[in-house]
Amino acid sequence: MSKGFAYPIYVTRPLLPDLNRLQAKMAEIWESKWLTNCGSQHARLEERLTGYLGVPCLSLFNNGTIALLTACQALGLSGEVITTPFTFAATPHVLAWSNIRPVFCDIDPHSLNIDPARIEPLITRRTSAIMPVHVFGHPCDVDSIRDIADKHRLKVVYDAAHACGVGLNGVGIGNFGDVTMFSFHATKLFHTVEGGALACKDGCLKENFELLKNFGIQDEDTVLLPGINGKMNEVQAAIGLLVLDELAAEQARRKRLIETYANCLRPVEGVSFYRDPIGVDYNGQYFVVRISEKEFGCSRDQVYEKLKEYNVFARKYFHPLCSDFPSYRRLPSANHANLPVAAQVAREVLSLPLFGELTTAQVEKICSILASFRRPLKAYPPASQGSCGKGAADSGPDAGKLISNL
Ligand SMILES: *Cc1c(COP(=O)(O)O)cnc(C)c1O
Repeated sequence: MSKGFAYPIYVTRPLLPDLNRLQAKMAEIWESKWLTNCGSQHARLEERLTGYLGVPCLSLFNNGTIALLTACQALGLSGEVITTPFTFAATPHVLAWSNIRPVFCDIDPHSLNIDPARIEPLITRRTSAIMPVHVFGHPCDVDSIRDIADKHRLKVVYDAAHACGVGLNGVGIGNFGDVTMFSFHATKLFHTVEGGALACKDGCLKENFELLKNFGIQDEDTVLLPGINGKMNEVQAAIGLLVLDELAAEQARRKRLIETYANCLRPVEGVSFYRDPIGVDYNGQYFVVRISEKEFGCSRDQVYEKLKEYNVFARKYFHPLCSDFPSYRRLPSANHANLPVAAQVAREVLSLPLFGELTTAQVEKICSILASFRRPLKAYPPASQGSCGKGAADSGPDAGKLISNL
């Protein structure tokens, strides 16, 4: 195998609209002298995204984290909220900043989303809500989660940071739960550089979001609530409008690359990946594989390091688990004994490069590099077990042990 790429291949690249179109947009904003506080770009983006996401109400924010924080405030969440440890740091941090204790629930081994069968035993008198994450853009089991929430009178706030544009049986992913948060960070498929939104069902809740994201100011003489500054500015909104124009083409390119990955990696023993069930319209946000050390012959960490030697920069999303962060690891729910699936998954996942500018030839090359690392343990004498390609650190004779110790 030739020695990798001559240039670095990163896990993602932002969708960048044409600079001339951006300049025309900036000229519009300069002309208006209206830079923030819900101007015309903001109004246009809100309207277009409401349609694109197919949700009744949408409120734009300066980022997804502040949006999620505002959702907690608007719904009056308190006490404990049940969430997943397999997510980005923002999810539990928002709870901590709201004086809420995150309660970590184990995940489904296939979708990697919160496992509904594990939620009920975690509910206490202090539980106010469930905060599931549509991780990597794959929809949660929304029906089971709704049933549990209804039975126990809990709110449901979805973190759909990865799921912009995902559909479930023809319904936009923002229609489930009381509130759904979207992130429009530059690393997300649709972005406004930094940005986010909250989707909800009724206009009253949206009004509350609008108040809270603007310091609680109702009018010149009334500050009704202790709000925050969560407003999306006009430059962000304008960039969002331009990115939105290019989104469908980007998604089509990404979906082709996902098929290439799937076809190339399907025959590789020890590498697995999740495909959504029928009825899910996937958005092409990520392509994530799991490396089974036992079957592949080397660990995810070894694959990650080895790929770098070939100029391929994959990412270990999500490792470490949020429940292993110093701020949360002492919580009773953070104990790995309660999170066996999440603990194993965090050791096996790897996000591979996925963005529209990649070519199918590049993806094929990434796959053959990855496949070349495979060292089936049984085919080798003990001395070379787990050698994981030339020059890699030896994983030792206990290679498969971590998994069986779970
Ligand atoms: C990106 C992300 C967020 C935070 O969104 P920001 O817009 O960056 O604040 C929250 N949750 C998850 C799962 C994310 O990936």
